[in-house]
Amino acid sequence: MNDNNPLQVDVCIVGAGPGGALLSYLLNRQGISTALIERQPHLHKSFRGELLNQDGEAVLSKHGLYSGVAQLGAMPLEQIQYWENGQIIHTVYPGEGESHVGIHVPQDHLLDFIVSQSQALPHNHETVLFNTVITGLLRDKTGKTVGINVRQYGVPSSIEAAIIVGADGRYSAVRKYAGLTPDIRKHGYDLLWARIPAPVGWEPAVRMASMNGQQLALFSQFGGYVQIGWNIPQGSFSKLREQPFAPFVEKLVEAFPCLAESVAAHIQTWSDFVLLSVESSYSESWTQDNVVLLGDAAHTMTPTGAFGLNAALEDADALAEIITRMASDQFQSMDLLKQLQMIRSSKVKQQLARQVEMESSFQQRYESLR
Ligand SMILES: Cc1cc2nc3c(=O)[nH]c(=O)nc-3n(C[C@H](O)[C@H](O)[C@H](O)COP(=O)(O)OP(=O)(O)OC[C@H]3O[C@@H](n4cnc5c(N)ncnc54)[C@H](O)[C@@H]3O)c2cc1C
Repeated sequence: MNDNNPLQVDVCIVGAGPGGALLSYLLNRQGISTALIERQPHLHKSFRGELLNQDGEAVLSKHGLYSGVAQLGAMPLEQIQYWENGQIIHTVYPGEGESHVGIHVPQDHLLDFIVSQSQALPHNHETVLFNTVITGLLRDKTGKTVGINVRQYGVPSSIEAAIIVGADGRYSAVRKYAGLTPDIRKHGYDLLWARIPAPVGWEPAVRMASMNGQQLALFSQFGGYVQIGWNIPQGSFSKLREQPFAPFVEKLVEAFPCLAESVAAHIQTWSDFVLLSVESSYSESWTQDNVVLLGDAAHTMTPTGAFGLNAALEDADALAEIITRMASDQFQSMDLLKQLQMIRSSKVKQQLARQVEMESSFQQRYESLR
């Protein structure tokens, strides 16, 4: 692939996250050629949403992918526990007909499995390009978008495609190049994120505590880990880290005494936490001619309620069906791409609203459990 001899595909997908990887696989299975481009050197990225809910599980199962992902390793979580002063005060069990309250799936497992299944298809039409960053949209003399410009290992080149998909996450470059502007919403909190080994005998569950009115959550993870998500007031981390560290981390141990040993061994300084600036966004339009957005690029969610990964998988599923129909017509009408937003926007907006409601009523709900 170089400027004189650009890669030519039906669909160019920017971003090999869950949404992009699944879409590429589903199109590849239909004989539609794709280029899946990813700026990272591999699929193994840390600090991603990894809790699959019933919706995400249903999409993977529908396409025969869930059992393979689970074989690589996944952990169904059995309950949500609410804790206070080191004790469980309330437990939520799976609803009727449900066997878990969410499944921890390491994103490595999810992405590795989907991409390897795609590459192993008897007739593979997918080209995966790592270390490749989109640098702009490629236009013909009439101004029509006919592909994208990229830098692969720092070398400029281009990819020609009938459709360009922005699956490149919350800071989507495709969205910017297509002139699609999202409404961004702050939620009044940021998140401190850390992962430590789970204590021996740790049951697979989500554990919640209220820390000065803010949510402190623990998620059991496959492989014997606990993911800690600690909400702090928005923009407060720089002030917080001027304070002594020990009294801060002691609060974590007071809330969950069983973590004492693991916290002492693995969370010793402020740098052992990763700060995530929390915001959500919604693009009024998800399409611009033959450019379409999905997942976080179209609608970034906050970590609350663990909807984002699942919404990206549902988008990919819906978009694959739309593009498959378009392929049977040699991609004559790009208007069909607008159907993605028509099909998906109502559920996505409900989930965004639900997150705000869950965040604002957290303390009140907690008090009602006491
Ligand atoms: C702390 C935290 C916890 C979360 N927890 C959960 C959870 O438990 N469950 C859940 O459902 N959701 C969760 N989410 C949300 C979830 O992570 C996202 O909604 C989901 O990853 C979106 O998938 P995606 O495929 O749209 O984008 P992403 O997963 O963001 O993937 C985008 C890909 O595009 C690549 N990329 C970006 N820019 C470029 C570029 N210019 N050129 C080429 N490639 C590019 C990126 O490297 C990345 O691989 C969480 C989010 C956060 C921040």
